[in-house]
Amino acid sequence: MPLFADIALPVPRPGIFTYAVPEGWAEGLAPGMRVEVRMGSRLAVGLVLRLHDDAPEGYAVKPLGSILDEEPVLTPELLDLAHWTAKAAFASVGEVVQAMLPAGLKPDAERRGSRKPPPPMPVDPTRMHALHPAQAAAFEAVRQALDQGEGAFLLFGVTGSGKTEVYIRALYEAWTRGKSGIVLVPEIALTPQTVRRFRTVFGDQIAVLHSRLTGRERADTWADIRHGRKTLVIGARSAVFAPVADLGLLIIDEEHDASYRQEDPSPRYDARDVARRRCATAGAVYLAGSATPSLISLHQAAHGALRLLRLPDRPEGSELPEVRILDLKSYKKAMRGPLAVPVFLAVEAALDRGEQAILLYNRRGYSRYLQCGDCGHRVECPDCSVTLTYHRPSDSLRCHYCGHHERRPLRCPSCDAPGLLDMGSGTQKVEAELEELFPKARILRMDRDSTATRGAHDQMLTAFGNREYDILVGTQLVSKGLDFPEVTVVAVVHADTELAFPSYRSGERLFQLLTQVAGRSGRAAKPGTVFLQTWQPDHPAIQTAARHDFEAFARAEMGGRKRLDWPPYSRLVTFEFKGRDDATVMRIAERFAAAAEAEGGSPVLGPSPSTVHRMQRDWRWELVLKTPVAWDEAEREARIERILYQFKQMKEPGAGSVRINIRTQG
Ligand code: ADP
Ligand code: ZN
Repeated sequence: MPLFADIALPVPRPGIFTYAVPEGWAEGLAPGMRVEVRMGSRLAVGLVLRLHDDAPEGYAVKPLGSILDEEPVLTPELLDLAHWTAKAAFASVGEVVQAMLPAGLKPDAERRGSRKPPPPMPVDPTRMHALHPAQAAAFEAVRQALDQGEGAFLLFGVTGSGKTEVYIRALYEAWTRGKSGIVLVPEIALTPQTVRRFRTVFGDQIAVLHSRLTGRERADTWADIRHGRKTLVIGARSAVFAPVADLGLLIIDEEHDASYRQEDPSPRYDARDVARRRCATAGAVYLAGSATPSLISLHQAAHGALRLLRLPDRPEGSELPEVRILDLKSYKKAMRGPLAVPVFLAVEAALDRGEQAILLYNRRGYSRYLQCGDCGHRVECPDCSVTLTYHRPSDSLRCHYCGHHERRPLRCPSCDAPGLLDMGSGTQKVEAELEELFPKARILRMDRDSTATRGAHDQMLTAFGNREYDILVGTQLVSKGLDFPEVTVVAVVHADTELAFPSYRSGERLFQLLTQVAGRSGRAAKPGTVFLQTWQPDHPAIQTAARHDFEAFARAEMGGRKRLDWPPYSRLVTFEFKGRDDATVMRIAERFAAAAEAEGGSPVLGPSPSTVHRMQRDWRWELVLKTPVAWDEAEREARIERILYQFKQMKEPGAGSVRINIRTQG
């Protein structure tokens, strides 16, 4: 009978603690079960990793509190995946388990009362289309991989080329073989149309793991999957951990999407990497698709780690829209509100024909910030180093980083002069301007504020699809995965907003956004026009997006990355230092940089202040290592561990007040 249990707790690394197994408890205990234990003065829930007889040295072992499960909540496969993810994300296993389980590591609602699950509707393959030749070829490759129980694909096809149809067929194929399948989408709330298409074919056989499910609904869904009542799953990032047995196929839609990386809190994992690992160990096929694949996936495809499948055309004669770049410098005198005259005229003409328009403005709120006309002071968040955004419906100033909000001040907080000026615009102001420009049009605004309530996003899209509105204006939310046949004009009001935070990825992000939004136009038989209003008409991302030339974009961008040694030609390890005192954080980051320099082997960039230097009262500094891609993960980890160790040995005063987060990228 084992005397000790190693327990993973949801605390930073290493986060594994040994407890004593009380006499007679060993029978009912297995790895993957949750237990309650005493941690300091409080009770915490942890997960059993291992049962053993090795008495730990150096501390008195406390007994386990209670066992919360009758059977493991995590299968050995998922437990293994948790270990792998923890290593890859520099997180503790407990933090990963916290992200995996439906209610995190908490005593949950799952066991309170039992719900009789509805019988699954039958799967209806008649709702699938006959594939056109390019789709059939892509599908055939996936089918053969399913036969072999291995294979990893990158499905590259312009928006509307029929990728979703291929996913559906592939999933159906896995299902008929008695295998389970997982479909990852960027964010469930943003992709209701995609989810609906899977539901039309798979009915209730497919479980939807929704970020806005209540705790109880999530636990029920999780239990349905865990007990094999549902074998197909569609969900956002964390659905990569769905407890399906016998995984056959894992699909990642819009694989370039930033939401597949969890940034905060820990574990800072990348669902694409986790998915690759899970498929490799489970003997499942990995199928990632996009109209604008990430350069990292593209690089993998070029080196054979992913097999490239292409869908070159849109089906049934629906053409890619014409894209016109409008240089805002030459329209200074020819603007109608936020729109250059040609855009205004095109929207007006579309409305006259009874068609619809979508306008993207990627900033929410009314005015971007308030500025004093006397002293020039800008009103900032008390806890973050950013300006506050004015929101008109609530007449309040809001911080888009920490949520701080306050009434709009009547006088300048710095010099007390009256009359603060509204500077810059957000979707609320654009909406108001459009109401003046098109008094008869029915205008719908979609951004994080207007979609805050549960189901709002879906309702809005349905209403727009039912032609209850003429113009949809909003942030990037309007660019995701929508398919409206009556939309013939799409305009990006200010294409440069993505370039405001410079990063080696900003060109890639801009290209992706422009391509996604351009894909909203002319989806059906009606031809569409896309307008890009910009101050930088010659920017390569704007030029190539306008020509729908992903390959030209990727070639140029890849060349630049190679010259400067950015991913995919290096793998970045970013250390983020956070603390209440700026000088201390900076000093710690500098000392850490010295330890990293001493380790050698890769260039050390920084430390430098983070893009938002202060957030939620913490001052933040960053240090980036450009590590060679030739290092394997084990070597990279070993070197990072050595740097951490060397830094600890320095015993730098104040180190205890600074938190260090680590994430890798590339
Ligand atoms: P993507 O996922 O690449 O954007 P979709 O799969 O959404 O493309 O396809 C675009 C449109 O074409 C959808 O309305 C879809 O129903 C339709 N479609 C795709 N493939 C076929 C096909 N083989 N036969 C008929 N219609 C198709
Ligand atoms: Zn703030």
